[in-house]
Amino acid sequence: MTIKKAHSVLKQYFGYDSFRPQQEEIISEVLSGRDTVVLMPTGGGKSICYQVPAIVSDGIAIVVSPLIALMQDQVEGLLGNGVRAAFINSSQSGQENTQILHRAVDGELDILYVSPEKILSQEFAPMLSQLDISLFAVDEAHCISSWGHDFRPEYTKLAFLKEKFPKIPMIALTATADKVTRRDIEDKLGLINPARFIASFDRPNLSLRVEPGRNRIKVITDWVLARPSQSGIIYCLSRKSTEQVAAKLKEKGIMTGFYHAGMGPPFRTKVQQDFIRDDIQVICATIAFGMGIDKSNIRWVIHYNLPKNLEGYYQEIGRAGRDGVESETLLFYSYGDVIQLQGFIEDSGQPEIGMQKLERMQQYANAKICRRRVLLGYFSEYPQEDCGNCDICHDPPETIDGTILAQKALSAMARLKESVGMNILIDVLRGSSRRDITQMGYHKIKTYGAGADLPRRDWQEYLLQMLDQGLFEIAYDQGSSLKLTDLGREVLTAQRPVELVRRTLPKKRQAANPKKSDKVGDKPVDEPLFKRLKALRKKIADKKGIPPYIVFHDSTLKQMATQFPANQTQMRNISGIGERKLALYGDRFIHEILQFLQETGKEDSSNTPESEKKSSKGNRSQVVSGHRLRSGHSTMDEEKGKAFWERNKPTENKKRKKVPKEKKPPTQLLTYQLHKEGKSVDQICWIRNLKENTIYGHLISIYLNGEKEIDIFNFLAVEELKEILEAIRDRG
Ligand code: ADP
Ligand code: MG
Ligand code: ZN
Repeated sequence: MTIKKAHSVLKQYFGYDSFRPQQEEIISEVLSGRDTVVLMPTGGGKSICYQVPAIVSDGIAIVVSPLIALMQDQVEGLLGNGVRAAFINSSQSGQENTQILHRAVDGELDILYVSPEKILSQEFAPMLSQLDISLFAVDEAHCISSWGHDFRPEYTKLAFLKEKFPKIPMIALTATADKVTRRDIEDKLGLINPARFIASFDRPNLSLRVEPGRNRIKVITDWVLARPSQSGIIYCLSRKSTEQVAAKLKEKGIMTGFYHAGMGPPFRTKVQQDFIRDDIQVICATIAFGMGIDKSNIRWVIHYNLPKNLEGYYQEIGRAGRDGVESETLLFYSYGDVIQLQGFIEDSGQPEIGMQKLERMQQYANAKICRRRVLLGYFSEYPQEDCGNCDICHDPPETIDGTILAQKALSAMARLKESVGMNILIDVLRGSSRRDITQMGYHKIKTYGAGADLPRRDWQEYLLQMLDQGLFEIAYDQGSSLKLTDLGREVLTAQRPVELVRRTLPKKRQAANPKKSDKVGDKPVDEPLFKRLKALRKKIADKKGIPPYIVFHDSTLKQMATQFPANQTQMRNISGIGERKLALYGDRFIHEILQFLQETGKEDSSNTPESEKKSSKGNRSQVVSGHRLRSGHSTMDEEKGKAFWERNKPTENKKRKKVPKEKKPPTQLLTYQLHKEGKSVDQICWIRNLKENTIYGHLISIYLNGEKEIDIFNFLAVEELKEILEAIRDRG
């Protein structure tokens, strides 16, 4: 009954037809009064997990959230959907906060966001017992762990909530939690026998791409110019480069801002606001930027420099495409960045761990197999297939054995006493008879002319690859002369082979262009209409003083621009339009669409009938001002979303539907199902609250009795198996 109510709340307020499967599970646990821990990637949909129960339940939900900007954003979104929400934090006067508290006591609010400082404060904490609290939600719960990257000491004091109100369910949510942090969250919040959920960390709508860190400014300006009016973030390592890159983009007439911790708070707030409201298109920022924003229509993220680990990288690219629409990411990789980062890490508290993490980051950047597999592998997820949405999948690199090439170059470098720059080195390799070469006697060295068979441009490319691989360095303080590294010496003495990627520059450039035609499902988005709808959205947002994505997500506008809803019923079927938004904006958008159809003469040449014919469910088609549409179907975006979540759906759920309620699946089977979903043993232990030995015990006995398939090489390296077999042979 309550879960049914949750479904109707989802539709009525948020305009979504279905839960992402784990959401429904999570919500039923919370509604049943149980404590819950949720791990979901950025943009996975954590908020719904407490917002829906908050609306369904009587009383008020208290949400603890670490950042003021984030709170404002969430409350704005909720108000826009007609939910009775407010926040209490230091951005408001004491009087305003008191007023809100009164409304809470009077039962006029369903959701109240509170900063951790305020909830612990003298004014607020005693008031809690006067409220009829339905649940506590602790967002960004990793902030509780001093091991994590974002420790907030106030969070540790939140333990008093469970102590004082043990019966009120608490849900803790985070996108980043390793083993230690997970345990910290439960212990420090004092959760009682919590239900635990880990969603897949895959974000299939983000494309992944890595390019060598050269001509970055040129590549970036081309990139931005090819994506007019698409919001994006460029992450830079230094404050100075945020300003430099921003200046370059501004020169090209692109609305750009920069953001770093060295700016005064008012400036930072202003830039952030401008970005959120689509008044500037691009923001160049250090990693200080981003945690506080839920802007859903960020279409791309570029890393100007290599991040220092994959956690940070994933968090940062995760800010793109929260609305589920296809979004792009680009990482520039250069060996120079590695050196610089190594310097930082050496000076830090835990250099060993830092170096290991940097190495994993490098492996990702150098990957020759599907990048998503490398990335997810880092988070202990092992997809069985290539993603089809990364540069490697699109354009597998063709590698060549570059050992001889490298040896020629490195040998020349050594014989020239590491005193020349790249241009002269190439001249010598190609046997140039230029005067300055012969004058210096460079034509007498053994490798003079050893690389005459390769054009100059190829040598440039391969030398840069060798530089990226750390075979030599450029001494900028000594006239940019090239110096061998230890690695380079190993190559020279034939102790180490070198792999190079065949030069394929023209192809690469092409691939970096945005996708030509945008689609929702298999139907093309009408770009001119999408543009008009965006303009209308911006007008409405500015008038109300709210960010455009609070009016409608990009995904919602894109659906309008494929389905041309022409009346309220059809509008209601667009994902992301709840009752309140329908009432507020429905007519204006319908009007805009009809006008567009009329002006462009598209009224009759609708592109829907074909898909209508295909629809076997016999949906009623309607004729509206000559424009035919079908109703009562779920939208393609949702279907895509469903397919994604279907993959992550615990098979446990499916099972439950078949098995009569009181019969639980046997414990081994539960373990097996989680294993099949790709969860690691470590994760299964956590979810099931069982010991590692027990889980291995389950898997072993399933393997032995042979009724289900388990790939033993998930657990065992071939080498280990060999050793075992040898031991058996030796000892019987
Ligand atoms: P996070 O996990 O990072 O907190 P959010 O809660 O901000 O993610 O959700 C990310 C996006 O997904 C939001 O735009 C939200 O509206 C959307 N979303 C969440 N649940 C659903 C759903 N069941 N159907 C469609 N969109 C959803
Ligand atoms: Mg969130
Ligand atoms: Zn891939």
